[in-house]
Amino acid sequence: MKKRFAIAVDGPAGSGKSTVAKAIAQKLGILYIDTGAMYRTVAYACGKYGIDASQEDKAIAVLDQMQMQILPGTDGQRIILDGEDITERIRTPEIGAGASLVASYLEVRKKLVEIQRQMASTHTVIMDGRDIATTVLPHAEVKIYLDASVEERARRRLGELQAQGKTTDLETVQAQIAARDEQDMHRTHSPLRCAPDAVRVDTTGMDIPAVVETLLCMIQNKIK
Ligand code: C5P
Repeated sequence: MKKRFAIAVDGPAGSGKSTVAKAIAQKLGILYIDTGAMYRTVAYACGKYGIDASQEDKAIAVLDQMQMQILPGTDGQRIILDGEDITERIRTPEIGAGASLVASYLEVRKKLVEIQRQMASTHTVIMDGRDIATTVLPHAEVKIYLDASVEERARRRLGELQAQGKTTDLETVQAQIAARDEQDMHRTHSPLRCAPDAVRVDTTGMDIPAVVETLLCMIQNKIK
């Protein structure tokens, strides 16, 4: 395989990006970078510092106040905020909604994109997010857009939340996902879209091992 390369994985909430990207990182022994976790960290930090994230200038100021460390690895990524590991704490629907809000601010995006590019410049990575193929790594060797019906994505997310011991229902989760899709696809800066040169994979009705297998074949064909 080529010395160093990048794999970009984009798609809407609940499309399976992180589970699949993590599995591929393990199989190939490369770094998995979850960019959504960085936007979630900004939203979490706003809450921690008592800042109203709907005030753009205040949310942007949080970027200078917070100390974020991203510890990538083949078996997942840890996020440290001000010396505290918040990896699990940011995985809530509320933080997801807050992340989607702060992700609409240009200055927040500029800062996080810079960090993401820096990480990809020194390692072979599989990076997942919303704008990886379109903005962060436009020269990535492999570009994948994972999609699935909103009903299926809501079912998967509900399963994850239930596994964390959270009580919610399918209707609520589906409404949260649909609201996030709407915001992420229609914002001004780097809206979620499938890059013209990305391969779109609809994972509706596919299980995780099947998606991983499909993507590994694509990657092996592209990177020789
Ligand atoms: O992927 P995840 O659900 O953790 O992302 C949380 C939010 O962060 C998304 O809904 C999106 O608004 C934002 N995001 C983004 N660009 C990325 C990754 C995530 O705008 N590259």
